[in-house]
Order: sequence, then structure tokens, then C-alpha cells
Amino acid sequence: MTKFVYTFGGKTAEGRADMKNLLGGKGANLAEMCLLGLPVPAGLTITTECCTAYYENNCQLPAGLMDDVWKAMANVEKLMGMKYDDAENPLLVSCRSGARSSMPGMMDTVLNIGLSSKTIPGMLKRTNNPRFVYDSYRRLIMMYADVVMEKSEGIEPADGKGIRKQLDDMLDDYKAQHNYKSDTELTAEDLMKLSDAFKIKVKEVLGTEFPDDAKAQMEGGIKAVFKSWNGKKAVSYRKIEGIPDDWGTAVNVQAMVFGNMGDNSATGVAFTRNPATGDNQFYGEWLINAQGEDVVAGIRTPNPLNDDTKNEQNKHMKSMQELMPETYKELCDIREILEKNFHDMLDIEFTIQDGKLYMLQCRVGKRTGVAAITMAADMLKEGLIDDQEVVMRISPAQLDELLHPILDTTDEKNHPVIAKGLPAGPGGAVGRIALTNDKAKEYHVNGIKNILVREETNPEDVEGMRAADGILTARGGMTSHAALVARGWGKCCIVGCEAVKIDFETGTVHIGDRTFKEGDLLSLNGTKGWVYDEEVKMIDATENPLFKQFMQIVDKYRTMGVRTNADNPEDALKAVSFGAEGIGLFRIEHMFYGKNSEKPLEKLRNMILSDTTEERIAALAELEPYIKESAKSTLKVMDGKPLTFRLMDPPLHEFVPQTEGKQRAAAQERGMSFEELKRRVDALHEVNPMMGLRGVRLGIIYPEITETQFRALFSATCELIKEGHDPHLEIMVPLTINARELHHQKSIADRVKQEVMAKYGVSFNYLYGTMIEIPRAALVADQIADVAEFFSFGTNDLTQMTYGFSRDDVNAIVHKYVDEKVIPADPFNTFDQECVGQLVDLGVKRGRSTRPNLKCGVCGEHGGDPASVEFFYHVGLNYVSCSPFRVPVARLAAAQAAIKDARSHK
Ligand code: ADP
Ligand code: MG
Ligand code: MG
Repeated sequence: MTKFVYTFGGKTAEGRADMKNLLGGKGANLAEMCLLGLPVPAGLTITTECCTAYYENNCQLPAGLMDDVWKAMANVEKLMGMKYDDAENPLLVSCRSGARSSMPGMMDTVLNIGLSSKTIPGMLKRTNNPRFVYDSYRRLIMMYADVVMEKSEGIEPADGKGIRKQLDDMLDDYKAQHNYKSDTELTAEDLMKLSDAFKIKVKEVLGTEFPDDAKAQMEGGIKAVFKSWNGKKAVSYRKIEGIPDDWGTAVNVQAMVFGNMGDNSATGVAFTRNPATGDNQFYGEWLINAQGEDVVAGIRTPNPLNDDTKNEQNKHMKSMQELMPETYKELCDIREILEKNFHDMLDIEFTIQDGKLYMLQCRVGKRTGVAAITMAADMLKEGLIDDQEVVMRISPAQLDELLHPILDTTDEKNHPVIAKGLPAGPGGAVGRIALTNDKAKEYHVNGIKNILVREETNPEDVEGMRAADGILTARGGMTSHAALVARGWGKCCIVGCEAVKIDFETGTVHIGDRTFKEGDLLSLNGTKGWVYDEEVKMIDATENPLFKQFMQIVDKYRTMGVRTNADNPEDALKAVSFGAEGIGLFRIEHMFYGKNSEKPLEKLRNMILSDTTEERIAALAELEPYIKESAKSTLKVMDGKPLTFRLMDPPLHEFVPQTEGKQRAAAQERGMSFEELKRRVDALHEVNPMMGLRGVRLGIIYPEITETQFRALFSATCELIKEGHDPHLEIMVPLTINARELHHQKSIADRVKQEVMAKYGVSFNYLYGTMIEIPRAALVADQIADVAEFFSFGTNDLTQMTYGFSRDDVNAIVHKYVDEKVIPADPFNTFDQECVGQLVDLGVKRGRSTRPNLKCGVCGEHGGDPASVEFFYHVGLNYVSCSPFRVPVARLAAAQAAIKDARSHK
């Protein structure tokens, strides 16, 4: 029999922190806190394997599970000195979800399970606190009806018609009728009446009675948590975060402790360090006489935990440090114990029941990129972690976030701050106001920057939040849902901005005395929590000294090279400032696109539209100086660093005028008849240009095109050498299928090289290589390596050719495939290690079988993708090459791959 149930409590536990896969993050860390001797209410954890069994078993609990649960409950009862479903001394429990990796607010938890007409009298007698008992009861009904009776039954009520919302409305109406401002003003009698009214409503809306039986409640709670794994919001969160569907969730059944017993009770959440800035200060929020979700839900504005947490909004409110100094001290000690044990910043939940502190959760806390780098540097100094671990502490996404823009502080001074909120997610954002998730998504799809403005956000909003460039909410604290999610994604976010009032009827937002419509511009400074009207300029944040220091440590562990894809001096310099060690891909044809391309493009067109070899050679002669200058300027800034030029690759028809108007104009310019020009253009037509006249085929059909390019590149090199520079030229041939193509082109190169060296009176060396981007080339790589001195794997084309997916046509199909789970991901975004990866691996091995020191690299979109970088490291590539902005990310990913590798051999 598989063991499905693990107990914890009384300073001991069957689980441990490193059992997250089995017990979920929450269960494993509850066990760990017990082992550390911290005050944790006793409980039991049902494993993620049980969740998998539950789903495999047609949503039935495995036989005997409930017997095991009751057995473990006996242990809990003993430790807590109370009995579940007992009339005299009843124990209540919570049923809490907990997956391997945290999914904040995505799955469900039910508190106060076990209250029934049988146990309520005992509770009343023991606590002598009817207000507390009925407050707990009405909460149970609300949560249970929502989670167990509605959601887990798959009922999907219309927007705003869910049972939770209906009960919340009843509560609000009741408070309004009695002129209560806060939940805490509700009396015992009020809460009793509300509980009765709730039960009637539940029956009316859902058609079943709220169960008045503690045992049934327990089983219902456990099943509902399992079901919530496949709830809508959990599924969509997993998709965004890339969490596999088959991991499952654990269930934690834990003895209740109560923060809602009166003014000597409280509940709170905290971070052991500031998650937005990384500062080494205890940071949190708490609420007196409240339970569980109240802090996170934003129903009441929470109080600051301590002086360090006070800000504009809450500075007048009492902190725990002030009101409960003893308990606060105890919590500070726990903070230290936890950081020493986990060597990291933790996010904790605690509850104080009548002056006694209990720990309810701890997990490694989400943080911004800035905070991650600050904390890692501090923890290194404090001796909590070593510098290898520093490298592992910053995820590539967080590093990327550090490279993201912030508002330009100089320009900020030109704009009045129209409102202030809490700085929940750092960086800057400028965009159009979106009031709904759909609007944010619509803007995003159309490439329009947008700011999602909401009262508050909840887990239903994740997709809208994802699509937004910035998030602004009227309510919520630093630990509210919006804040947690935004920080996790490194998104600019301001919460609790009370000046924001949304009027959905008219689709307008009032901020202070200003009124905005959906679509109006706003700017956010998420690092300070400031809101500006209109557009503030943005700048990038790479000059951060912490960033530079961190990258130095990264390079200490990195073994694989990182180059960049760049085709002009500006991009090349940018990339070098980001740490690029060379250029892995310079596309010669890039000079025919964009800025200053008119002249060379005109010459290129003449070349393409030539009818005879003589015409073509004449046109090429005019083109050559442009290629030379373009190559020379970038070679010059890359002095001493390798620069790989790729010979012209694209289908020629891309460069000729396609509309009749443009063709007539082009004909006139050339003194040619329109009909003649059209004939020449039509002659270039191909049914499938991606597999037609491009790459090395161009150079074989028209050797004069190859000759011109070699002459231009060699001349640029000679000129630079004469000017005292140190160019490191590499030339690669694209779209190769065999060694003969390379020999053919090489013979041209050899001849031209002699001519150019003679002309300039200088000699030079260069590397002659090829791209490997057709499966055939990977298979005959041993023969190819006979002539090629290096390989560069072009993973875009290699993916296209391996799948037979046309990069230009297959988008919609790929999306459908991913949705239908025919393939796990878009192979053009996520490198297909399984198959395309095999070809790369094979290509490297076969190539090096002929030429052991064959240099191998990769260029293409995947060169900057962290998971792919790790793969390329294992295949033994010498370098990856990616776009300039991805260079730091690739350096980090390469260092992390090397460290992981070294650790796995220990
Ligand atoms: P989530 O994963 O959404 O944070 P939790 O399982 O942590 O959900 O529970 C929601 C809230 O209820 C948290 O604030 C937690 O501290 C509180 N809570 C959970 N179990 C108990 C318990 N046994 N006693 C008191 N509070 C609890
Ligand atoms: Mg929690
Ligand atoms: Mg290619």
C-alpha cells in the first residue's frame, strides 16, 4: 500500500523541506517548521500522488484513504488536546491546497471545518465567545459553499452570480442596514442571523443543504482541494507558468488556530526581507481580530507589521511592534531561524490566538529582479550563501527584468504626480488605460502598451494582468494578489492607490480630481508608487552597479562563450556593453533594410534584375563598396573580437518591387519598358521560395555574387589591418547540404583572397565555416567538417526543415497544435531538444570526428532562451549567439548550466 498520509505537529514530522514533490511546498515546509521546533498547529498532509490517483480513479478517493486520514487525525487530536466532531471539546481544521511550486490564490482552502449543530454548543461553552463562534461559522459556510459545493461541482455561474458573491452581498447589505463600517462591528447575534440566512440562500441557489456533519465536511473539503487543481484559474495559471498538469496538489488538513477571537488575536503575512527592494528589513502586514484571507483579500486595509513597513497610507496605523512587542520579538526570532535554515528570503503566514503565536506557512518568497540581486549580494556578505549560489539565485527572467526600462527621472520632474499608491512591482510603464482583462488582452494583441486599472485584482485576472504593461489598483496592500503576481512576473505595479475611483457605467476612471477614459495615457513609477498623467519618457537600467558586480560573478563560472547577432556598429557596441564576446551572426543583406538602405538596395535590385552575367557583374561592382563599408564599420568596433559574416541568404524576390505602380517606376528609372521589367520579376517567381533559390544555391548559380561578397569582406579586412586594427574575420556559407558546395565556394574565396592580398600588400587569416540548418548537413557533418573550420547551427531553419513547418505560414496551425496538446510547445519559441536537438548533437559529434577542434556555435532565436542555452552547454557548443538584449540572460543561463553540471557530479 502506498503511504498517502504524512503527519506533522509537536516539534516533529514525517515530512521534510526537501519532500516538496510529494507533500507540496506548503506541506513540506510545515513539516520542516515543526522539525525546527517552531509553533505550528498539528495536522496531516495527503500527498500529490494521492491527487494523481484520485484523477486516475475517475475522481474517487483511493480506497482506505479516509481511514488513514482519521488515524492521522487521532494524532492531531492528541497533540491539540481536542477532538474532531466532539460535542464537548471540538477540534476544527482547515483543508489547504499546496502544490509543488506555489500558485498564489489559484487553488482553494476552506477554514473552520467541523462546525455543526453538534459542535457549536461545545465551542460556545469552551470559548465563552459567541461572536467568535458565529464569525467562524459564517466564514465556513461562505468558503464551503463556494469551494466545495459550487466550484468543485463544476457549476459555472454567470459573472457576479457566484454563491460567494451573493453571500458577500448579503453581508454588505446587512452592514449597510445597520450602519456598520467594518466586519468587526458585527455582533454575535448579527453573525448568527447571517449564518442562518446564508444556509437558506445556499440551499436556494445550489439546491443542496450545507452539510451539518463534521465528517462529511472533512471528506468534501479534501475532494474539493483535489478538484481545485483542475479549476479554471489554476489551469490557466499553470499554462502561463509552464507548470505540468500532472504534478497534482497535496492537501493539508491542519488544526485551526484563530486570529478572530478578539483584540488579543490577529493574523498576518510577512517577508523576512523587503521583496520589492531587497533591503534587509522585516516586512509585513497584519490585522487584529481577523482570520486567514482577510489580509490578502483587501477587505480591510492591513496594519504595518513594524516601523520599517510604515508608508504614506498606513503610517497612522498601529504596528505589531507597538501593540504586541513580546510576540513581535518572538516573530523576529523565528525570522532569523528560518533564514538560517533556508538560506533565503521567506514569505510567512502567522496567526496569534489570544496572545499565542502560531506559524501557518513559509515558502521562499517571490521578489523583484532588483530585490533578488540586492538580497543575493547581501546574503553573500552575511555568509548565508556562497558566490556560486549567488549566480543560482537570480533567474534569467529576473535578470531580464533588471534590463527593462524605468521612467526617466529627469522627465518625471516635468510631470505632476497625480496620485500615490504602494510600490508593488518595480520599473516603469507607460500605456493606455484598460479597465477590463479583455481590453488589456486586445491592446496587447495589437501591440499597444496598456495599463490595467482595477479596484483590486483576483485570480480570475491573471491573463489580463499578463497582457498589461503595468497594473494599477485602488485597493490592496503589498501582499495583495495583484502585488504578489506582478512581483513574480517582474511587472510594474502600483496597488492601494486610493485616489483611483472606477466608474464602470461610463467607462471612466477618476484619479483625484482628474477624469480619464479607457484608452487615455498614464505613466507609472512602480518603484516609488507614483502615478502620472500622460506619457513620461523611459530609459533602461543597465548602469546599475549591482548588475555589473553580479555579472562579474556570473562570468567566473561561465565556460561557454556568448556572442551576439548584430549587423551594424550600434547594435554591436550595445551587445559588447552587455558582455558579448563576438558576433555570431552578421547578415550581409541587412544593409538592404531600413535606415540608409535606399542606395545599396537600388544597386542590389539592378543586380537581381540583370538579364545577363555581364549586366550582373556590372551591377555587383557598384554594390561592392557598400558591402565593404558596412562590414568595415562593424569589424572596426569589434576590434580583436571574432565577427562571423553570413553570405547572402534570402530569396531574391523579397527585394524587387511587387506592385504594378512600383514596377512602372522602377522600369522608368532603368530606362526599360514596364513589360520587360515585369518579365524579369516574374521570372524570379518561386512556388516555395523558402526552399528555392537562396543560401549557398545563389552562390553556386551565380558565382559572381559570392565573389563580390568575398572581395568586399577581404578588402575591408585588409584596409583595417593597414589602419592598425585587428579584425577577426569569419565567413560562413548558409543553407549547405554537402561538402561539395563548400569546396565550390572555397575555390572562389581562395582566388579572391590572393588577389586582394596582392592588391593591398597585406596578408591575413580568416575562418571559413558553414551554417548547419538542413538536416542533411547535420548527417554528413563529418564530411562537411573536412572543409569547414567552424559550424554555426541555425536553429530557425533547422526547426523549419525538421518539422516541415513553414516559418511564414504555420503560425495558426502551431497554436492549434499546442492547444490540442499535439505538440508541447511552439518549436520556434521553445527549442525542440528531443529532435532538432538530436540533429545538433549529432552534427557536433560527427563534425568533431573529422576535426576535433571544430568550433561550434548556434545563432537564431533560441540562442537567448535559458533552457536552450542549458541544452547547448550539454551538447558542447563553444558559444551561443543571441540578440544584444538577451546577452546578459544567455551569460547567466550558461553560468547556471555550468554550476548545475558541476553540482551534479559532486
Ligand atoms: P493560500 O495557499 O491561498 O495562501 P492557505 O492554505 O495558506 O491558502 O490558507 C488561506 C489562509 O488561511 C491563510 O492566511 C492561512 O494562514 C489561513 N489558514 C490556513 N489554515 C489555517 C489554520 N489551520 N488556522 C488558522 N489559519 C489558517
Ligand atoms: Mg497561504
Ligand atoms: Mg537560415
